[in-house]
Amino acid sequence: MTTKRVALVTGSTSGIGLSIASKFAAMGYDVAINSFEAEADVVDALRSVAGNGASVRYFQSDLSLNGGGYDLVGEVVSAFGQLDVLVNNAGVQKVAPIEDLPPADWDRIVAVSLDSAFHTIRAALPGMTGRGWGRIINIASAHGLRASPFKSAYVATKHAVVGLTKAVALETAEKGITVNAICPGYVWTPLVAAQVADQARVHGMSEEQVMREVILAPQPTRQFVQPEEIAELAAYLCGDLARSITGSAISIDGGWTAR
Ligand code: NAD
Repeated sequence: MTTKRVALVTGSTSGIGLSIASKFAAMGYDVAINSFEAEADVVDALRSVAGNGASVRYFQSDLSLNGGGYDLVGEVVSAFGQLDVLVNNAGVQKVAPIEDLPPADWDRIVAVSLDSAFHTIRAALPGMTGRGWGRIINIASAHGLRASPFKSAYVATKHAVVGLTKAVALETAEKGITVNAICPGYVWTPLVAAQVADQARVHGMSEEQVMREVILAPQPTRQFVQPEEIAELAAYLCGDLARSITGSAISIDGGWTAR
């Protein structure tokens, strides 16, 4: 890397996003981390990323609000001068049969994962195009490639994120910009921990049964993917030797989508 590069990771105060932000900081990037929470509530996350000695700043933005992602990119560019790597990671989940899924939860899931990616990409592309280099990574899911019951909003959103990835990759293919989706299987993070009780309710199972027979059932390795594995792949995609990987939906799912 010849010049300092700047990375924005949305939804990066916990789980996968926090791990990706830490990896980029360790690689010497300036890093913008984000969530909807007040800065006072994310000091531990900020400190854990900043502990790697990089320039790290927190940007509070609720990505469920229309246009939040567009303004967020503007703030990051104002603070750091440019944006080279955009990781659309923020996501939320709700487990329920579709007839019991409140429309407000549908709207929130679509807004946080899909709409926000549209807005951040629109805002980030002019600068990346002008510099002739950029990396966009959308954290989709195995649920961007396969469905599960009781996750209609999440499955629909993640499939759409994969489609968005492919379309933007084609539009930017000659501009030095790559656009890819990472499709993790189950990663043990607060997002997964929070759905164990919901899954137990809708499946009529104990939480122990849910872990064994629902959560890890589609993952042939029967092991959770670790957040650091996702971060390592994101880092690879940002290297110059990954310049020909674009428009891909890359699985890191313990064999889930091999079935
Ligand atoms: P997590 O709950 O640990 O982290 C989610 C992050 O998003 C948090 O920092 C949270 O503050 C932020 N966020 C939530 N709502 C927001 C909003 N309105 N505005 C701004 N930020 C918001 O979740 P995770 O498991 O690390 O998931 C990260 C991404 O990976 C998500 O897109 C998720 O769908 C995807 N994913 C997770 C798994 C898994 O098994 N954990 C599997 C596949 C894909």
